[in-house]
Amino acid sequence: MSNVTKTAVPAAAGRAAAKKELPEHFKAYKHVWVFVELERGQVHPVSWELMGAGRRLADKLKVNLAAVVVGPEGQSTRNAALESFCYGADLTYLVSDNVLADYRNESYTKALTELVNTYKPEILLLGATTLGRDLAGSVATTLSTGLTADCTALDVDADGSLAATRPTFGGSLLCTIYTLNYRPQMATVRPRVMPMPERVERDAARIIVHPLGLVEDDIVTKVLSFLPDRDSETSNLAYADVVVAGGLGLGSPENFRLVRELATLLGAEYGCSRPLVQKGWVTSDRQIGQTGKTIRPKLYIAAGISGAIQHRVGVEGADLIVAINTDKCAPIFDFAHVAIVSDAMQLLPALTAAFRARLLPNSRARIAV
Ligand SMILES: Cc1cc2nc3c(=O)[nH]c(=O)nc-3n(C[C@H](O)[C@H](O)[C@H](O)COP(=O)(O)OP(=O)(O)OC[C@H]3O[C@@H](n4cnc5c(N)ncnc54)[C@H](O)[C@@H]3O)c2cc1C
Repeated sequence: MSNVTKTAVPAAAGRAAAKKELPEHFKAYKHVWVFVELERGQVHPVSWELMGAGRRLADKLKVNLAAVVVGPEGQSTRNAALESFCYGADLTYLVSDNVLADYRNESYTKALTELVNTYKPEILLLGATTLGRDLAGSVATTLSTGLTADCTALDVDADGSLAATRPTFGGSLLCTIYTLNYRPQMATVRPRVMPMPERVERDAARIIVHPLGLVEDDIVTKVLSFLPDRDSETSNLAYADVVVAGGLGLGSPENFRLVRELATLLGAEYGCSRPLVQKGWVTSDRQIGQTGKTIRPKLYIAAGISGAIQHRVGVEGADLIVAINTDKCAPIFDFAHVAIVSDAMQLLPALTAAFRARLLPNSRARIAV
């Protein structure tokens, strides 16, 4: 495939060696696009986060930022298209057709690849959600272009190439990947990796409506019914304002209740490091880090977590990180804002009691009743 990984070769020299003249038919590809993920009438917030990232790229390239809205006919799809202007879209491509009511790879891939082939964007960004990952892979394959998945940073180089950075070698290195000789340059980004841009009330600018040209009989996959995955949807970890998490330092699954108790009292979400999921102490939807969720809370309390790089990449967007660890040399203290060298088994119940006394001063009386 077309992707080039930046390694030991100096960046400019490496790119120059790999870069051929962009084929003539790709030279018309211009502008930055963001796929607005709409499922069952709801826009996934990662789409607006990507509009912020897309705006920065478009401004650097001095091109337009376009939103792409694909969904069933009706108000929710139309509203998503209108809302995209409040998050900075200069124009929006809209494909609305009732066969797009449920996400199916075939119909969505057709909609997006046809838009790309018709209007020719140079950069296409999607959220690294379940839907976005499925769609991005098949769109990139259909268009025979490069896709960099799960990016943690996006930029454009002096020559206008998209520089898509992501962790590699188990998170111990960051690599920057270029799609130099193909278009569009595609990337996915996980929720909460990019900051949410400010929403500014704006009237719709330009909406380009494109027909799908597909009927139900053309689609092999049929949706018989929709069963929401209640278990995995219960955690709102990625978008929580306060998160309390525990790691292996807690010593046993029973002790993890100390994390849950503090989280419940604070109205917070709880999370964990990966080994706790691997041991079956906590469900996988609670894992924080490179292979779990990325979080950006106002407050993150981490108890008994060492702060390995794979955990760090998922939490460093937090406004305030409070780490509790018995080892004063634990790596988490390198990036925590508040470092507490203490036994989590002692401190967590003490914190819960102190917060209870502050937040629920009459709790004893209430319990007695
Ligand atoms: C490809 C790959 C992907 C990965 N993805 C993730 C990921 O998404 N998320 C993730 O978290 N990890 C991930 N990991 C694993 C990661 O490398 C670490 O192994 C993991 O984060 C360590 O978990 P931990 O901090 O809970 O455990 P440990 O590293 O064992 O740390 C436990 C910490 O608890 C402290 N401690 C011990 N007793 C106490 C006590 N009583 N009170 C307070 N502190 C105490 C110790 O000093 C230590 O610092 C990944 C690894 C790989 C290779």
